Amino acid sequence: MVKQILFAVALLITLAVFAWTMRRLFFNFKFTKKLPLDNIPKRIRVTLEVAIGQTKIFRHPVMGLLHALVFWGFLVILAGSVEMVIDGLFGTERVLGFLGPVYDFLFAAGDIFAAIILVSILVFLFRRLFMKVKRFYGPEMKPVSKADANLALSFILLLMVTLLGMNTFYLLEMASHNEALTGVYPVSILLAGLFAGLSPEVIHFWHEFNWWGHILLIFVFANILPYSKHFHVFMSVPNVFVSRISPLGYVENMESITKEVKMMLDPQAAFAASTEVPPKFGVSDAEDTSWVNYMNALSCTECGRCTAVCPANITGKLLSPRKIMMDLRARMKEKGPGLHKEGLIFNDGKSLIGDYISEEELWACTMCNACAQECPVNIHQPSLILDMRRYLVLEKSAAPAGLNTAFTNIENNGAPWQFSPQDRLKWADELYINSTE
Ligand code: SF4
Ligand code: SF4
Repeated sequence: MVKQILFAVALLITLAVFAWTMRRLFFNFKFTKKLPLDNIPKRIRVTLEVAIGQTKIFRHPVMGLLHALVFWGFLVILAGSVEMVIDGLFGTERVLGFLGPVYDFLFAAGDIFAAIILVSILVFLFRRLFMKVKRFYGPEMKPVSKADANLALSFILLLMVTLLGMNTFYLLEMASHNEALTGVYPVSILLAGLFAGLSPEVIHFWHEFNWWGHILLIFVFANILPYSKHFHVFMSVPNVFVSRISPLGYVENMESITKEVKMMLDPQAAFAASTEVPPKFGVSDAEDTSWVNYMNALSCTECGRCTAVCPANITGKLLSPRKIMMDLRARMKEKGPGLHKEGLIFNDGKSLIGDYISEEELWACTMCNACAQECPVNIHQPSLILDMRRYLVLEKSAAPAGLNTAFTNIENNGAPWQFSPQDRLKWADELYINSTE
């Protein structure tokens, strides 16, 4: 009974802290722009393919496979965690055992996956600590980002050690009492051989130690995740579901501009009195972004796959698409509390453009979409960059000189070049194409 009470208290604290954090993070969605979610069947297909099937991660075959195995392993092991919560609350022992062969299959897979995840995490840690993998570096990757990644990996490592420990000592405990086993544990049964000589009391102690160690690590880890890049553990699947599904190079029209153009083309509407206050064009700060942009920022794993393929970054420009997503997340975190208190009128004298992202970064983007193509969680960085550029052009008239010339030419000549529309076919004169001879 004491164990159940302790467990219930630990669970309540975990849920309360988690709910408090989620409320803070998700309340910020209230300040973002609405965007409809269309084509649900296609979204389900993309989610199965990219999130569950992990297809994009396989572009790096070896590390991709290890990462995919960790992800799939987590899904399988989740069943064991649910069982532990039920056991903890109701004082039962391996309560899902009534599932019979399904249980055996699930827990055998979980036991094997625990070993695979353990080895994969050791490889990940080795790469981060001892190999200079270029995409893990960059001006935006501060020491705290690296410490965050290493801490999360260490947590996962300990989770797998305690899971295997729990299974191993469970097998030994059942054997010491001559009781039947619930489930199949192909890896732990091998490990059990290493501890065969221990007394029943010691075996019981280590079973309890690993059981509590594992579940408490889950509780603590769940509350650290929202403050870490590993928040993608929760966010990646929903993020893929809400991600942009139109073709990568497709440029969305600005609804407000489309409306203006339609009004200009319709004389009746153009002269009709409009009381509507014109909206702000583009994005200059966190609250101007759409809820999908913010979801993207919360889901960014900081893996750097986008920056590694960005031609602007590769050729030494300031732009890093990873930084764009990290900056939006940081800015929303900074401005969120003020927005909560004072609403959208809150102004702290700072802004996403300028204080976080420079104009130089924004204009370095070639809109090639390589970053979006590579992102394993389907983040679309170019659309956010484009919206910030739209703000600079439409609200600040702050386009680079070369673009301003092109804009003037479009306005005067209907084309970005400095020639009159009447001269457009002059190039053909000498080819006698227009000749009647
Ligand atoms: S779209 Fe822009 S940010 Fe993305 S890879 Fe191309 S240049 Fe880099
Ligand atoms: S935007 Fe995507 S590819 Fe880039 S760092 Fe974040 S998760 Fe990785």
